[in-house]
Amino acid sequence: MPKYDIVIVGGGCVGCSTAKHLAEDRELDIALVEKEHRLAAHQSGRNSGVLHPGFNYEPGSTKARFATEGTTRMKAYANERDIPLREFGVVVVATTAAEERRLSSIQQQADANGVETEIIGSEELEEREPHAQGRAALYCPEAASVDSQQYVYELAKEAKNAGVDFYMGHTVESVSASSSDVRVRTDKGAINGDYFVNAAGLYADKLAAEVGVGTGYQIIPFRGDYYELVPERRHLCNTMIYPTPDPELPFLGVHYTRRTDGKVIVGPNAVLAFAREAYRNTEFDLGELRDVLSYGGFWKLMMEPKMMKVAWEELNKSYKKKAFVEASRNLVPEARAQDFVRSYAGVRAQLVDGNGELVKDPMVQDGPRSLHVLNAVSPGLTCSLPFGEHVAEQVREEL
Ligand SMILES: Cc1cc2nc3c(=O)[nH]c(=O)nc-3n(C[C@H](O)[C@H](O)[C@H](O)COP(=O)(O)OP(=O)(O)OC[C@H]3O[C@@H](n4cnc5c(N)ncnc54)[C@H](O)[C@@H]3O)c2cc1C
Repeated sequence: MPKYDIVIVGGGCVGCSTAKHLAEDRELDIALVEKEHRLAAHQSGRNSGVLHPGFNYEPGSTKARFATEGTTRMKAYANERDIPLREFGVVVVATTAAEERRLSSIQQQADANGVETEIIGSEELEEREPHAQGRAALYCPEAASVDSQQYVYELAKEAKNAGVDFYMGHTVESVSASSSDVRVRTDKGAINGDYFVNAAGLYADKLAAEVGVGTGYQIIPFRGDYYELVPERRHLCNTMIYPTPDPELPFLGVHYTRRTDGKVIVGPNAVLAFAREAYRNTEFDLGELRDVLSYGGFWKLMMEPKMMKVAWEELNKSYKKKAFVEASRNLVPEARAQDFVRSYAGVRAQLVDGNGELVKDPMVQDGPRSLHVLNAVSPGLTCSLPFGEHVAEQVREEL
């Protein structure tokens, strides 16, 4: 049975960033275990690929700190390593008077987080994004688009070159810790370690529970569907066009993102997924669905009047293209139904506590001979360099 100093589970951006940072210490024997045969197969490869520089995160929060630092660091990392990255900038569009007022408070948050922004009028908005419509907008030049899959592969390449062993296609079925080691049992045999890092994304709560960690929380999977603009209508969005976020809602509304490959994706919405890796609304897993429906925290969350209304609207957007297109036309009125074709989907691992509160900050908990990334909430891709480094530092302290 192979034996390592550290066994990391999860080949997404958090697991691979943790592996890269731990592997800087050449003395450590490290294994990374991933159930798929490729990296970034779930959240880290099924997202919008946007570097969110942190203009709308609570000042002083871990998320704000990781997002601002992560944006700067990832730009440098991508430049050094030829990872596709485009510094497009974003316009956050206000379509109502109330949203226009909110732009000022977002700008105050941006200032507190040290993120450069500018409030622009409708004329300048038209210069930047001729097809967007709004009374005003917040322009943030620091936002960027990155190829998230290439980024994760680059992290993994670095880790591998530094000696990390990758066990691809190995599903971890159980984990147990004794006073002397940790046993990670996979469908292809056990791997032993002195220490275990759980970066299993959508299944992080399940693996944590194996060693009695994070039992007051559960991951609720929220799917986000994307459409994309047909090639001849991609000019409707030059860069990134976002709605003004509602501070009371956990997910940003449907938005337009120009990717590094030139495609313009529109979305994501946010609907309950009927399984943790259900990328279509026809896919489900009865056991996983039962887990969600029997969780008190889920019902407390859903009983919030605002959440109920949003849940219904989001469900409509998932099942009815017309509803999705309508929401998109709020930002770009010229867009027509025939301009949109279905694209990919991603599922967000949203950690919810027993009171129905969404955990908004990144969260790591320690356990017996182990560290568990329970919440790598969006913008987890943006945050992943400082977050992985933080996890690696914590592991070194524990060892
Ligand atoms: C629709 C969507 C849009 C998003 N947009 C953005 C964005 O624009 N910008 C941004 O910064 N962030 C964005 N995010 C958030 C970001 O993608 C995530 O926060 C981040 O990818 C989380 O990374 P992770 O490594 O924790 O999880 P994952 O990428 O999900 O990786 C976990 C890995 O663990 C593996 N695993 C799970 N269980 C086991 C097991 N039992 N055995 C072995 N392996 C296992 C999985 O196969 C997976 O590869 C978005 C997320 C979604 C879903």
